[in-house]
Amino acid sequence: MPTYDVAVLGAGPGGYVAALRAAKRGAKTCCIEAGLVGGVCLNVGCIPTKAMLHASEIFHHFTRAAEYGFRAGQATVDSAAYMKRVASVTAGLRKGVEGLLKGRKVDLIRGRGRLTARDAILVDTGAEPVEVRARAIIIATGSRPARPSFLPWDSGRVWTTDEATTAQALPESIVVVGGGVIGCEFATVYSELGIKTTVVEMLERLVANLDDDASRAIAKSLDRRGATIRTGRRIVGMKASEAGIAAELEGGENVQASHALVAVGRPPNVENIGLETAGVKLDGKVIKVDDRCRTSVEGIYAIGDVAETKQYAHLASRMAVVAADNATGHPASDPRTIVPVGVYTHPEVAGIGLSEAEAAKTGKKIRVARFHYQASGMARAYGDTEGLVKLVADEELGEILGALVIGQHATDAVQEIALAMRNELTVEEVAATIHPHPTFVEGVMEAAEAWLGFAVHAGHY
Ligand SMILES: Cc1cc2nc3c(=O)[nH]c(=O)nc-3n(C[C@H](O)[C@H](O)[C@H](O)COP(=O)(O)OP(=O)(O)OC[C@H]3O[C@@H](n4cnc5c(N)ncnc54)[C@H](O)[C@@H]3O)c2cc1C
Repeated sequence: MPTYDVAVLGAGPGGYVAALRAAKRGAKTCCIEAGLVGGVCLNVGCIPTKAMLHASEIFHHFTRAAEYGFRAGQATVDSAAYMKRVASVTAGLRKGVEGLLKGRKVDLIRGRGRLTARDAILVDTGAEPVEVRARAIIIATGSRPARPSFLPWDSGRVWTTDEATTAQALPESIVVVGGGVIGCEFATVYSELGIKTTVVEMLERLVANLDDDASRAIAKSLDRRGATIRTGRRIVGMKASEAGIAAELEGGENVQASHALVAVGRPPNVENIGLETAGVKLDGKVIKVDDRCRTSVEGIYAIGDVAETKQYAHLASRMAVVAADNATGHPASDPRTIVPVGVYTHPEVAGIGLSEAEAAKTGKKIRVARFHYQASGMARAYGDTEGLVKLVADEELGEILGALVIGQHATDAVQEIALAMRNELTVEEVAATIHPHPTFVEGVMEAAEAWLGFAVHAGHY
């Protein structure tokens, strides 16, 4: 029976990072994966969607060629080639991660694992089962797309993100069910390519977990790209035929499309992995962990989507580092309170900390400042002036409570605020930091200056 210092269950951005970190710490490590190395993020999540979004943005730029001084013919989409490129991006990265695991001498065991004791995992390899023993176990089994049972899944016309990211071709038209982060990213992808797109969201606004400004910016941009948005509406029925699907919305409206894409949440993979046998407790739907990623059972850790309600690859990878360090005798902790959120729509949206509405509820006296991209030299050079940096801070202490960035490079710019918040820097310290010019991230400095009442480029625009 193979014996390890650390066994990791799942090879997503949580699992493979944990395995690499544990191996780097000198631990004899294995990583057990039932599907593809890289997990959801690399194969059917973050990476393929960003490859699609970038390609769609390039297509969108073609339609604006004259604005930049080009005479170009009518651009058309080669649907198969578009999706083939997406597949080659993920395949290349997957190969890279497999190489990293091999290079660090992590044993990759292919098969579905289940805990049979607090220090043992039985792996169904499809042939002879393998039992692995380990001093520490890190559970990183991730999550899967929700599949509401009333939808006609058998038709092949109803996709989850798994199918949408790996299809051989693009849909002719689409109903996106769910206007959260993922639904809005796909709506951007398709509408930007000129594909007839309808987004149906049961809540009153898109990306309801983010600041109102974000919802407004995304709704405006999707509308401008020709998408139809129905908020505050549920899908109550759907029929599939040879021609496509017909979705019935609350209130009687019918929407026809070649396909439906369902993006209404992702349940964590806590079933059939032996949690009960090992005595690992849940906290609601996810595995209960502390700030060291320790579960209720000594020696067993859990990370990523299976242990966090905030489902982000970067959080899974951070938890991986914390868990692997603890599992190899290097105490580490992280309260996981400062987690940037990215929505890669066009314009891009990124948030961190509290929204303006949440900050107002803390009882602290808050001050909000904005810097609009219209006043950014770089945004003007790009011809892309839609966006802003919004900073929310404690008026008395200058402590940054949250930020929202909308526009080009928003997810890069918000990272400066993340660093500032983690290190308890004040607005004044951010404003006093020299930023390279011209850049989009200058907007952070400008917003900080505006917050202090010394805006340089704000006011006129
Ligand atoms: C369309 C889409 C876009 C996204 N975009 C972003 C983004 O831009 N940025 C971002 O931060 N996040 C994004 N996410 C979320 C991100 O993908 C997840 O938060 C991240 O993948 C979670 O990592 P994980 O390691 O916890 O789990 P996963 O990536 O889900 O990996 C878990 C792995 O465990 C394996 N596994 C499960 N059970 C077993 C078992 N019993 N035995 C062996 N193996 C098992 C699975 O096959 C899988 O490979 C996106 C998600 C989707 C669906």
